[in-house]
Amino acid sequence: MKSLLPQPLQSLPRRLFRSRRVNLLFKLSALILLLSVLEAFYHSQFSLSIPLPAEHRNLDEPFSIGCQDVSVLARRPRESAVLVMLARNSELQEARRTVENVEERFNKWFHYPVLFLNNEAWSEEFMRGMKEVVSGEVRFEVIPEGVWGPTKGLTEEKMGEYLSKQKEEGVYKGEIEGYHHMCRFYSGEFYNLDALKEYKYYWRLEPGVSYGCSLTYDPFVLMADRGKKYGYTVALWEEPNTCPSLFRTVDEFRTQNNIPMHPNWKAMIDEETNWLLKPAPIRWLLGKVLRREHYNIKGDKWNLCHYWSNFEIADLDFFRGEQYQKLFKHLDKTGGFYRERWGDAPIHSLAVHLLLKAEELHHFSDIGYYHEPFWQCPQNAQGKQRLNDEMIGKAPEGMSEEREGGHGCRCECGLGKKGDWRRRNNRGICLEKLQRPAAYRRPSWWNLRRRRWPYSVGFDEEGRYA
Ligand code: GDP
Ligand code: MN
Repeated sequence: MKSLLPQPLQSLPRRLFRSRRVNLLFKLSALILLLSVLEAFYHSQFSLSIPLPAEHRNLDEPFSIGCQDVSVLARRPRESAVLVMLARNSELQEARRTVENVEERFNKWFHYPVLFLNNEAWSEEFMRGMKEVVSGEVRFEVIPEGVWGPTKGLTEEKMGEYLSKQKEEGVYKGEIEGYHHMCRFYSGEFYNLDALKEYKYYWRLEPGVSYGCSLTYDPFVLMADRGKKYGYTVALWEEPNTCPSLFRTVDEFRTQNNIPMHPNWKAMIDEETNWLLKPAPIRWLLGKVLRREHYNIKGDKWNLCHYWSNFEIADLDFFRGEQYQKLFKHLDKTGGFYRERWGDAPIHSLAVHLLLKAEELHHFSDIGYYHEPFWQCPQNAQGKQRLNDEMIGKAPEGMSEEREGGHGCRCECGLGKKGDWRRRNNRGICLEKLQRPAAYRRPSWWNLRRRRWPYSVGFDEEGRYA
């Protein structure tokens, strides 16, 4: 059959194939492509992979399964610790609810001091209201002005410009100056307050949160006992537009200080699902040339995971120590607390993953916690509820059922937005990623698919681990 194509086109493929130059070019490109794919594969699967802990065990386990004998534990010596709440006079009702709840679930046995912080003078009403509900020592402090912010050298004009830009861009609370001060304060200045000097550990409280389980042991004593420096409940993604350059800035500090890419830091890096498309030249383009949001200079991307810092139990010595304070100053200098709206949560999280070992972090999987709109609620440990224990008292009416694999003590899981399972602390979101360096027992891909995890923080409505 005669071809419809004109003669020169008909012979084109044959000619091309025969041309040595094109042939060479073709082979060379194929080779480069192959090497790129291999490099990208190596980078994502080996350079960034997180090895199993060398100790052949999980480096973080629950402090407690179910209720403990509080009559014994409350007789033991206390740690040097304080419950801290930053609040405004106008938040009296919410603050009182939190404190009453914490007293009922924990502090009525342990009587730790509660410290209230404010950037303004406390009202008589607030102080009276709190004295009525705290069972330990109660203290009220006013934060000195320079300490509350803003960053030195930031002019009012610049501040106004930053705030209105963030308002335009819809950055969460980006237009509220006080909110920037609060985030900056909690990121660094907080730790150097004179009022905290005498303590080793703090537990951060917020107005309007709730604790759904009883804590019948002393978490500070266990932090000390197990060498833990940072304790958290909920892990989730950060809002991307609040902190486009944060990861790059922290990673810059890492390289300047010769901190290696250790497993805990790698847990913050996005495991690329599209690693094939990220060979070295592309990473260089994204990180160094285009300086893309959430990329470091080397072209690795932060997975945006962080711990929610409205709950924290942590070691003050770590945060007031030289390294952390140096990191804070490095961040503050760049102006990011105002130019962007860096939260204290991602800063604490990036810092503890950069400067601490995986075994120094602790997930309080036995604490029931709700801060709008997210929550964590463990199932109650089977047969460990001490229902006749007089010191713990009457079981709450809405106590959830006991379950095998549960950790909780008398948890009531109808917290806040009741039954909104999309907003629970889900291992599938960030928890499993951040815990991987400490996890010896990791879920298999099959269990990951079936949403089954080595140990539970709760069960969804169909009874699967969540
Ligand atoms: P969100 O949870 O991040 O949405 O922020 P919140 O409004 O809960 O603020 C976090 C904490 O900082 C809470 O304990 C607030 O009471 C406190 N806070 C925020 N802004 C201010 C402020 O301007 N002054 C004082 N004294 N406390 C503040
Ligand atoms: Mn809050």
